[in-house]
Amino acid sequence: MKSYISHFESRLGAMTWRISTLVESETPTSEKVEVDRVVNALAEWAAGLGAQVRLHQQAIVGDCLECRWNTQAPGAPILIICHLDTVHPLGSVERSPTRIEDDVLFGLGAYDMKASIVLVQTVLEDLQALGLALARPVIWLVTTDEEIGSPYSRPLVEKLGREAELVLVMEFSDYEERIVTARKGVGIFQLTVLGRESHSGSAPGEGINALVEAARLVEPVVALSDPARARSLRQRLCAAARVITSSLASVTW
Ligand SMILES: [Zn+2]
Repeated sequence: MKSYISHFESRLGAMTWRISTLVESETPTSEKVEVDRVVNALAEWAAGLGAQVRLHQQAIVGDCLECRWNTQAPGAPILIICHLDTVHPLGSVERSPTRIEDDVLFGLGAYDMKASIVLVQTVLEDLQALGLALARPVIWLVTTDEEIGSPYSRPLVEKLGREAELVLVMEFSDYEERIVTARKGVGIFQLTVLGRESHSGSAPGEGINALVEAARLVEPVVALSDPARARSLRQRLCAAARVITSSLASVTW
């Protein structure tokens, strides 16, 4: 064990450089072109390490990356899952540059979860270099839509998950460095508020403004959050549509 620790301590500089490079290559979920560029770089890296690489094309978000090693080894695979996307819009890195303070690296998306990607790369490289190839097939899945609830990668996660004997989701745990074995669930709800169209000149009193009605719902929806029960709601106004004379006809939220 001790020799492993000193071995990985010797890799610290390379890992720090790699994490910084990955952080500087911004990958917000919504920016397919930027995300694909990094996915392709990871695919090249994996191919260089002898993986069978498969890109799962996505229309809206970045392509998902599936890499397989030791395909001839007996037994069901170990599946390692990472996500590449972050919540930080393009240009954020310029405003919050990567830095190291007191031995801690701060970088946008480093914790969630670019450092994990580098950790997986380093461990897989080193196992191979040290002649310690795992006695099972290994699959590394990198998804690109985790920050919006994995709507596009979910079928792939489920399919590969069923194939595997063990799944390691490389999401960091918490500041106390405990292993997380389950997470609270996530739900996505869409509210559509319908108003009533009317002419602002001849019948102003007959319209119902959907935007105003939607605004009335904001407070009660926010009040559904309950920190004591670890329940949190995030609100996003997605679209306010169809303004016809005085009344906004519908709002989707
Ligand atoms: Zn994450």
